[in-house]
Amino acid sequence: MAGVKTIAVIGAGIMGRGIAHAAALGGYRTILEDLLPNALRRAESEIRANLDKAVELGKANSKDADAAFARVEYAGSVEEAAREADLVIEAVPEEMESKIEIFTLLDKICRPGTIFASNTSSLSITEIASVTYRPKKCLGMHFFNPVHKMKLLEVVRALETDDDTLATAAEVGKRMGKDVVVIKESPGFITSRINAMIGNEAFYMLQEGVASAGDIDKALKLGLNHPMGPFELVDLVGLDTRLHILEYLHQSLGEKFRPAPLLVQYVKAGRLGRKAGRGVYEYPEQQEKSAVNDVNKATPVGARKG
Ligand code: NAD
Repeated sequence: MAGVKTIAVIGAGIMGRGIAHAAALGGYRTILEDLLPNALRRAESEIRANLDKAVELGKANSKDADAAFARVEYAGSVEEAAREADLVIEAVPEEMESKIEIFTLLDKICRPGTIFASNTSSLSITEIASVTYRPKKCLGMHFFNPVHKMKLLEVVRALETDDDTLATAAEVGKRMGKDVVVIKESPGFITSRINAMIGNEAFYMLQEGVASAGDIDKALKLGLNHPMGPFELVDLVGLDTRLHILEYLHQSLGEKFRPAPLLVQYVKAGRLGRKAGRGVYEYPEQQEKSAVNDVNKATPVGARKG
């Protein structure tokens, strides 16, 4: 297809707003949409704050940052956002029914050449694509949190994705400043599969009283050179998102991915991570803001030794 000029991003949560930020910095007209007007308002102020921070750190000049900010538009419906898009990136919650609903709607609204990407961390793109009349134009574009900082993009080829679609998405990823790996669809791709396994094992260890959350995080950082501990990371990702991923991997890859009961309990208690102000750790001063900063200030909730 001809080059991508306009990108619609559906869902303005943690990921959607970061994808919109990176797309706008890459020079694309970017239209961000969410069911909740509040999510759009929060996205707008966060994009502004992150662009200002990039200028402050000398990673972008203020002219580019202002131009990027001006390239983001906000839409109140999927129709409004996607009508003129060359590429739509879906970033709604990790539930197959939601993704299928969005892709069905997009297929009716968009031009036949428009590419549909899902930012799913684990779900089958082939299954999502099957509800459209354009499975060749559907693929996965798996970004990482926080999107404006993380370099990797996993581009996922589903059963029917064609070469042109794959090449276009990889090119867009590069213009968004990402290093791209192309992978064949498989549950959890590369990163979510390994990450879910490590994170789940950490919850089993916490539940068994092997060590405190802080010490498990410390061990992985200092002993295995992980940049963040598994609990710091799951608080950033969202415990609900992680649970959805694990449930899907458990169903598709078997027993080794059974979600740890303690993780299930945390989600039931509403401890969803930074976005909720508490997860494994507590974040009294922050509600869904500055996702990656201040990890060291986090304090464990009741230490959770056993
Ligand atoms: P989130 O809960 O922060 O945001 C989801 C947003 O989608 C919310 O603002 C919600 O209001 C909106 N939404 C829900 N239904 C919608 C609909 N029908 N139409 C429009 N908007 C709708 O979730 P997130 O963490 O941004 O995750 C989004 C996707 O990205 C998931 O598939 C997740 O697995 C994937 N992902 C997440 C991470 C992460 O670290 N959080 C990393 C990589 C990929």
